[in-house]
Amino acid sequence: MINTQNVAPGIPCPIQSCGNKIKVTIQDLLYNKVIKCPHCLVEFTMSDEALKDTKSAMADLNHVSENAEKTKGSSEKSTD
Ligand SMILES: [Zn+2]
Repeated sequence: MINTQNVAPGIPCPIQSCGNKIKVTIQDLLYNKVIKCPHCLVEFTMSDEALKDTKSAMADLNHVSENAEKTKGSSEKSTD
């Protein structure tokens, strides 16, 4: 049984005037996908990029990132 509470360092709220960092768990990311900012109460979905970033941050926190660095190297989009 896994009994770790993986907590992300924080996802920046998409509302610029808010600027809150929203703490989410890995479960939130995996199962909910919809994140709610407790500060301004906006709801938003995580982009794949944000998900990857947050997950890698979590992995880094837990020092388990060493063998998880397999890049599929197929989806390189420049989103701006
Ligand atoms: Zn917010």
